[in-house]
Amino acid sequence: MPIQFEKSFTQQEPIPETAIAKAVDVMRSGKLHRYNTAPGEESEVARLEKEFADSLGVNFCLACASGGYAMHIALKACGAKPGETVITNAFTLAPVPGAIDNAGCKAALVEIDNNYCVDLKHLEQVMRQTDSKFFLMSHMRGHLADMDAVTHLCNTYNVSLIEDCAHTMGASWNGKPSGSFGRAACFSTQTYKHINSGEGGFLTTNDDEVMAKAIIHSGSYMLYERHGTVPEPSVFDDIKLDTPNYSGRMDNLRAVILREQLKELSVNCKRWNQLYTAAEAGLRKSNAITLSERPAAETYVGSSIQFRVDALENAQDFIEKCAARGVELKWFGNKEPHGFTSRYDSWRYLGNSTVLPNTLNILDRTFDMRLPLTFNKDDMQTITEIIVEEVTHSV
Ligand SMILES: *Cc1c(COP(=O)(O)O)cnc(C)c1O
Repeated sequence: MPIQFEKSFTQQEPIPETAIAKAVDVMRSGKLHRYNTAPGEESEVARLEKEFADSLGVNFCLACASGGYAMHIALKACGAKPGETVITNAFTLAPVPGAIDNAGCKAALVEIDNNYCVDLKHLEQVMRQTDSKFFLMSHMRGHLADMDAVTHLCNTYNVSLIEDCAHTMGASWNGKPSGSFGRAACFSTQTYKHINSGEGGFLTTNDDEVMAKAIIHSGSYMLYERHGTVPEPSVFDDIKLDTPNYSGRMDNLRAVILREQLKELSVNCKRWNQLYTAAEAGLRKSNAITLSERPAAETYVGSSIQFRVDALENAQDFIEKCAARGVELKWFGNKEPHGFTSRYDSWRYLGNSTVLPNTLNILDRTFDMRLPLTFNKDDMQTITEIIVEEVTHSV
């Protein structure tokens, strides 16, 4: 009997009991709205904002409705105007080009390299060619490019860096947290990310004006002084009548369960990395499998793993065989978008006809696997044994 894997790749851990108890308290109070506070009282959302900003070592955090929403208002708050070009990596998730479109902007896509990071040579070329003032950089699947080189390029070409840290909450480059490199950064607290409130997001920045605008955009009804991290009132004076309300607040119920999970984040990052290391060791048993190199400067959170099989004849057949044995792989080479898997050519609305041969070539042979914390080391052994066996049959 060939071995079979039985667990679900999309099953997250339960919300901690302490968080559930606090969520019940919030519901008993009836005060779910972030601005529903008595004088002098601090809301759960405001507390979460303070705690997250502190954990990242930045001045300001705005908690909001989703990661995609945070990216949209980050672009607006950083001054992206309709018709302007925003640079982004070609390998990312659909909410990234969606946020660019939502801001009325055009996307200029950049190639990725063999390690799934933005290709720095191509990035510089696109910066030169487009004269764009914004780079919405997606640390897709938790792979950090050389952040010193990226910030150097942004400074040279006068480009505002906005980081998409949906997969790098808890990660760092040379000890500096991902999300503290650019003018603003965006995080997601959606179920499949590193802390889970179903839906939710953060926008972080050190820039007073960016935060003031973002707060007003998020729908603060001029109650901005109730935020956990907030610029001086004078910063709002100039902008409050010129900044539209794009209603996208976070509520106290989500905030309270996130506050409890934030306490566990660093422990959970270590647990993800144990799974990642076990997966790496298992996949290394096949010479046909190529894993990405992780630079010494990168402290990553291995909540997913990517690998390439260059000699594979039929990728579709390979994933079906793995799926039949309970191993759910994603393949980015698929011509039609499936679930969360999307390739840049499935965002036809961008009207972008540029072909990115390196990105297509890499994605054609790349497989992607989630590593939920409901898995353990034995599971990693079973999973990688199945993959290695199926790779051996398929090359
Ligand atoms: C999940 C995700 C986002 C934001 O997603 P939301 O569902 O809007 O919170 C942004 N970028 C990447 C790469 C993601 O995976």
